[in-house]
Order: sequence, then C-alpha cells, then structure tokens
Amino acid sequence: MNAANGTKAGAPTRVLVINSGSSSVKYQLLDMTDHARLATGLVERIGERGGAADHAAALRQVADELDGQGLGLDSPRLAAIGHRVVHGGTRFTAPTLITDEVVTAIEELVPLAPLHNPANITGIKVTRELRPELPQVAVFDTAFHATIPEAAARYAIDLATADRYGIRRYGFHGTSHAFVSRATAALLGREPADTNVIVLHLGNGASASAVRGGVCVDTSMGLTPLEGLVMGTRSGDVDPAVVFHLERVGGLGTDEIDTLLNKRSGLLGLCGDNDMREIGRRMAEGDKAAQLAFDVYVHRLRRYIGAFSAVLGRVDAITFTAGVGENSAAVREAALLGLDNLGVTMDPVRNAVRGTGARLVSASSSRVAVAVVPTDEELEIARDTYALATE
Ligand code: ADP
Repeated sequence: MNAANGTKAGAPTRVLVINSGSSSVKYQLLDMTDHARLATGLVERIGERGGAADHAAALRQVADELDGQGLGLDSPRLAAIGHRVVHGGTRFTAPTLITDEVVTAIEELVPLAPLHNPANITGIKVTRELRPELPQVAVFDTAFHATIPEAAARYAIDLATADRYGIRRYGFHGTSHAFVSRATAALLGREPADTNVIVLHLGNGASASAVRGGVCVDTSMGLTPLEGLVMGTRSGDVDPAVVFHLERVGGLGTDEIDTLLNKRSGLLGLCGDNDMREIGRRMAEGDKAAQLAFDVYVHRLRRYIGAFSAVLGRVDAITFTAGVGENSAAVREAALLGLDNLGVTMDPVRNAVRGTGARLVSASSSRVAVAVVPTDEELEIARDTYALATE
C-alpha cells in the first residue's frame, strides 16, 4: 500500500483524457492519486498537408506516442479513458459510461454540432477498438448547463417549431464553468452550495455563466457556441435579422454567413487580429480599429455581467478564466470599472500583478470578490471519468 493515498502500487489509478476537436486531438494522461500529468500532447492540422490524414490516424498517433513513453493504452495502470464530447443535447445531462447505445445517441446529436461531435465520436470509436474492455466515459460540454431553468433556456419562438428541431439554449464550456465555479468557492473558503458566481470564460471562444449555489442557472452560449460574448473570431450576439439581410441584400449563402459569423467576426472581424496581446500592442500605438475591437468586446462583457447580476440577485464573486481572462489585466479592469454600485471594487495593483494560481484581484472592501482562476478542463474530465469508472 502507498501510505500517502491508500492505493496499491501498480493499481489502475490513471486516466487518459482525449479531446478530439475539429482539426486537432489533444490528450493528457493523469494519475488520480496526485493529479500528476504523466503525458500531454497534441496532434494538429488533421486533414491538412503535413498533418495526420484523418481523426482515426491522429488517434493512432496518440496511442503510438504514449506507447513510446512506456505509457501505452495496454498498461494495467490505466483505469479509464475520458472523452470530451461537445454536444449532449437534452439526452446527456451528466458524464456517461460509454456503451454502443451511447455512441449511437451521440451520433444522433451530430446535426446539433456538425463540426464537433463527429470528431468526438471517432475518438471514442478508435480507443474502444484498441481497449474494448476498458471503461470509457463521455463528458459533455453542455452537461453543466442542463440545470438552466426553462425561463432562461427557451428562446421566445414558436414552441412546436423549437421542439421539433431541438432549438433551445444548451450552453458550452461546461466543464470549465463547473471547475472554475467550484474553485472560486474554495478560494473564498466557502461551500459551493453557499456561493453565487458569475464565471467569465474568455479564451478564443468565450462564454459567461451564472452559477447559484453550485448550480448553473444561465449562460451566454445558446443552441451553438456562436451566441453571447464577442470572441476571437465569432460575433456573439447579433440581431438574427442580420442573417436575412445578408441573404436578401448581400446575396450571401447560408454557408458563407455561417463562416462569416463563426470564423471572420469577433475581434478578428473588427480589427484583423484575434489575439488580445496583439490588440493591446496596437492600442498602445493608437490604432483605432484595435481600440474599437477592445471596446466592443468589453461593452458586451459588461452587459452580461449586469444581466447575470440581476439573474443571480446576490453575487459573491465574479471570476475570470481562460487565455484572456487569466492574462489580460486590461480586459478585467475595463470590464469592472465603475461598478461600485454593484458592489464591485477592483484593486488595480492586485489586478496588474502577473500570477499563475487562483487569486483575488478585488479590493478587500469589495462586497463582490473578483477572482482569477486558471481553468483545468482536463482535470475536471479526468475526475468525472475516474468517479464513474471506479463506482
Ligand atoms: P482556447 O479557447 O483556444 O482554449 P485559450 O483559453 O488558450 O484559448 O485563450 C487563447 C487566447 O488567450 C489568445 O487568443 C489570446 O487572445 C489570449 N491570451 C493569451 N495570453 C494572453 C496574454 N498574456 N494577454 C492577453 N491575452 C492573452
């Protein structure tokens, strides 16, 4: 026995986390006794020149890389494999042990996430072929948002039409919102059940969520990850009539509009750059387009902070996470400036200090804590996976 954690040396305590995305496969092998990362890697440019031919080839490359480090999928130390799956629809509201029937159900959800779910499914199929008897778990990006009440989840459109096509707010980045809201409660020394948090996940994709007592009650992304905040290349909220206008007046086709709003909008569309670091540099040189992009980004963020403050009633913390949220003091400051009436007072010095761990950046007098919490979606997926596999 290992005295420190009560597990036998050589026991299956490792979890492989696979994030099979639209053009890349990321993986991490974690030991659940101490959360050590034993291996991490990334296979990029799937289907492009110089990259893996397809997702199946990329997954085999992952298996070979692990083999090469003596950490192959056939290791008896491996307890389970956890797969990130983007869309769980209304069918999957919690992490789920994968069976043939579960794979079929995820396949049926492809129309809701045509870019993402097929890649996730291939990841699952390849690793199940390699280790058929090993427990494998699907962890859904939408699951944490399944608790959102109907009043927030429904769009005000014809009910029968909405139900026929599965149109409602699902929300995404759920593993991050779950992890970060819990970590915020820990940082405040409170129980998640007693803590209300607005989580701002600001990466390339960006979303906000309102979490009351550990339960998600609203989020900014909707049927797809396009709705809500301004993102690196996605527009976030637009008047839906923009789409009709582009069709009728601009003569654009549906796929062109899809590409415009998902890939050529957001910060990129406004100023030609989607990296907040580059935008900061350009703003310092007085670049007007970069300044506009920043201002639109921050304005949208403030709208959601205000909206979710009203949704929650009592806010204990506002937490920033992901690439922009963890690193951009300028975005955090601009988002919360002058919100003293909402009980939010930043400490500009704390906010400006570069840090790596979970930390508070609000003034000690602030009624609402402002926190920066590094997200760890892989650890969250590994925990969910291990819990189900060892039940
Ligand atoms: P993804 O959504 O792809 O996981 P990340 O959470 O890693 O993305 O966020 C990536 C984004 O974070 C980059 O596009 C960049 O805008 C931003 N970012 C990273 N580091 C910094 C930094 N030091 N300052 C400002 N923005 C940063």
